[in-house]
Amino acid sequence: MKTTNEAIVLASDLHLSHEDPAKLALFEAFMAQASRHAGAVYLLGDIFEIWLGDDDDSPPHGRIVDAMRRYVDSGGALFVMRGNRDFLFGDRFAHDSGATLLDDWHTVDLFGTKTLLTHGDLLCTRDVQYQQFRRYVRDPGNQREFLSHPLAQRRAIAANTRSGTKASMLEKEDVIMDVESSTVDKFMSEFAVTRLIHGHTHRPSDHVFTDDDGTRRERHVLGDWYDGCSVIVATQAGLDRLPAAEFARDAD
Ligand code: MN
Repeated sequence: MKTTNEAIVLASDLHLSHEDPAKLALFEAFMAQASRHAGAVYLLGDIFEIWLGDDDDSPPHGRIVDAMRRYVDSGGALFVMRGNRDFLFGDRFAHDSGATLLDDWHTVDLFGTKTLLTHGDLLCTRDVQYQQFRRYVRDPGNQREFLSHPLAQRRAIAANTRSGTKASMLEKEDVIMDVESSTVDKFMSEFAVTRLIHGHTHRPSDHVFTDDDGTRRERHVLGDWYDGCSVIVATQAGLDRLPAAEFARDAD
């Protein structure tokens, strides 16, 4: 049985796919190490390059879900948030992986500091077109309609999207703007937190700033696994950012 004093590890934007077998192996090593050293793992979206529904059995998916399952079976608590690539996670994914699916905004007590977690796309409010697209694809009725098509057809729709005609559910051009600071302030106030952790923008950094009332706030941006492959490890001592490979190697 794990104790609450163990590390809590956070990662996002892994974008795992069959195109990068080394990254799949890194993910397996990461989860295996988490089994030994982390009481909880938070994966804040875009874990999969694309997830077209819980019946999407594209080659690497079973392997990734199995790695999650082994962690959960070892006694770890796995929390998964939807990203803009894998927002179609549903009950079957949760059942198979053992993960608890989180809402788009989630607060957690990280060793005494109330922390707000989110994927990050909802903070990029300057991208009005993206936010419209997001509302469309997150609409339950639109999702039901999309999921009513056979998997092969959903794959075809997703593949055709780059050509831009039928704007589809899953692949909008990923020119990712950065967060809007007023939106960050708004949500941090709303959730009454002084610390926010998110991904999505692929701009890993630790921002410390002061809000209008003079309160010190922190915003930690997770890195992607295209470049750097980093994770954030929370312990009693605070937050530490390190390469996933280093975390996976850190044997006792
Ligand atoms: Mn994203």
